[in-house]
Amino acid sequence: MFTSVSLINSRLVFDEEKRRLIALMDAYAKTEKGKFLNYINYRNIDFYWCDEMKDSGGVMGAWLCWLGARVYLLPGNTDTPFMKVDTWCSLIAPTLVHELCHVWQYKRSWWLYILACLPIVRTYTIEKEADVVWKDAIKFFQDLENIKCVIASNERTKKWAENHVT
Ligand SMILES: [Zn+2]
Repeated sequence: MFTSVSLINSRLVFDEEKRRLIALMDAYAKTEKGKFLNYINYRNIDFYWCDEMKDSGGVMGAWLCWLGARVYLLPGNTDTPFMKVDTWCSLIAPTLVHELCHVWQYKRSWWLYILACLPIVRTYTIEKEADVVWKDAIKFFQDLENIKCVIASNERTKKWAENHVT
């Protein structure tokens, strides 16, 4: 079972992965629902791959207020060689958005956040809000990746893609 102890077995993402995840957050921060990202310093948050999440049966990300600026994420499957870093980062990006929403909720009002952490209350407050952006982010990143595939084959618009997509 996944518990907060599982987080001990985590490893900091590589610089390349961090850059990719930050680029994706930068893109989402420009959207209507992603505006909240501009109120937290997500570039200064450390991202970790938590290997024990693989066996957790559903946990894909975690942020714990008492651990500070650290977000834990489900790592990609290293047994799948064709799963590139970029691909996994895009797939996990909505989960990162969800966790960063909790960072923002805490920053917005830490005492309300703590109150809302109570079981059941949590589901209808902080998780509900974080799931709205999570669902929106899934759609956003899917669209973003589709755009990228189309543009990559077109030299003329490649420059545009470099400025807007990555
Ligand atoms: Zn959550």
